[in-house]
Amino acid sequence: MGGRLVILGAGESGTGTAILARKKGWEVFVSDLQSIKKQYKDALLHHEISWEEAKHSEALILNADEVMKSPGIPDWAPVVKTIRAKGIPVVSEIEFAGRYNQAPTICITGSNGKTTTTLLTGHILKKAGLNVGIAGNVGSSFAWQVAEQKHGVYVLEISSFQLDGMEKFKADIAVLLNITHDHLDRYDHSFEKYIASKLRIMQNQTPRQHCIFCADDPVLQARLVQKTDGPRLIPFSTKQVLKEGAWTDKNEKLNINLNTEEFKMDILELSLKGRHNIYNSMASGIAARLLDIRKEVIREGLSDFQNVEHRLEPLGFVRGIEFINDSKATNVNSTWYALESMNKPVIWVVGGQDKGNDYSGLLELVEKKVKAIVCLGKENSRIKEVFGAIVPAIFETRTARDAVKAAYLAGVPGDVVLLSPACASFDLFENFEDRGRQFKQAVYDL
Ligand code: ADP
Repeated sequence: MGGRLVILGAGESGTGTAILARKKGWEVFVSDLQSIKKQYKDALLHHEISWEEAKHSEALILNADEVMKSPGIPDWAPVVKTIRAKGIPVVSEIEFAGRYNQAPTICITGSNGKTTTTLLTGHILKKAGLNVGIAGNVGSSFAWQVAEQKHGVYVLEISSFQLDGMEKFKADIAVLLNITHDHLDRYDHSFEKYIASKLRIMQNQTPRQHCIFCADDPVLQARLVQKTDGPRLIPFSTKQVLKEGAWTDKNEKLNINLNTEEFKMDILELSLKGRHNIYNSMASGIAARLLDIRKEVIREGLSDFQNVEHRLEPLGFVRGIEFINDSKATNVNSTWYALESMNKPVIWVVGGQDKGNDYSGLLELVEKKVKAIVCLGKENSRIKEVFGAIVPAIFETRTARDAVKAAYLAGVPGDVVLLSPACASFDLFENFEDRGRQFKQAVYDL
């Protein structure tokens, strides 16, 4: 196909798509309602692609043959509604770039763990000597890489917003880590709609493709275990022994059984700690086995991987008190896993912009492990209401510096201060990275 492609949003995926489309002979126009960052403007100029910023000019948009909507733009944005009303097809970056990519793809989705599992899988494949393109939350976009680099295999982190605009795309290996409440504001507050979006990762797959999934996740369990059509399903679990797939056993071993081949390694050897990371490690290990990566390489990759910032990131000790930055925990489920993996008394730094959180699932862990709570948010009444009865020591703060100071004063040697907010950061910070960095700086300044 060719014709006029209009791209909404000039960020990483929009600019990458523009460059790819231009190369493939499309007439391209990029429109962004905000101002465009300099690096993307420069790239558009360099490729002689026309664009506008701080507006959407309908006359230049509604004559499109196809529209690529960046994942950050919601379906209810007026311009998107107008485009759809005109019958113009709207696709996502992955759908568009997928048309021009022949290399196999490992596509990773879930409510939590996508970035970690994507990077971990990429790390193992690189170690095996493959020419790997990694795209998603970090690095350059899939479309940009398809346009300018030639990779032999791609590991793609896929959000539900990308999945919503995918129709014909087919993943060679899909990974479904978990489905828990998140982003419901983008799905008419319907969990079912959000689930349907996530399950699209398997769309168009046949028994020749694979879908790796967490059999311990109740939502996935209910929908996948009995499924007979679609891809070949490969489960992983920490609760049951499986004939095929990955599981952990009583001897603290991680096992992967595939095509009658066995792989075993000590859980203690995994570089990423916590039960959630055993899941992520199993998912990556299965994906690597499906690509016939040598067991030795997988073992090494799973044991020497360094995770990215802000995911249960250890910051070291001050006066015997440990500090951990888990600023990326922006929903209740990710905080659950953070608390679960703590084995010392916890001073818990929590709060921020509450997305309608149901904190009840945390009560048991908080009662068992948390000795003091430091709220870091503008509005903390829900946290005080839910946890006030079981944790009497609750402090309220509005800056990372004050939060660190309060936590430090509440601690004694042997305690751990855990920033795992269960909330978005936008009430007090630019984003979760900003929150994490300010927290880290405050710890280093103690
Ligand atoms: P995503 O890209 O899906 O947001 P990340 O890998 O960035 O996921 O991790 C986000 C948060 O979720 C971190 O706090 C991390 O410790 C936690 N987390 C990572 N993997 C999982 C998992 N499998 N289940 C639940 N929480 C997880």
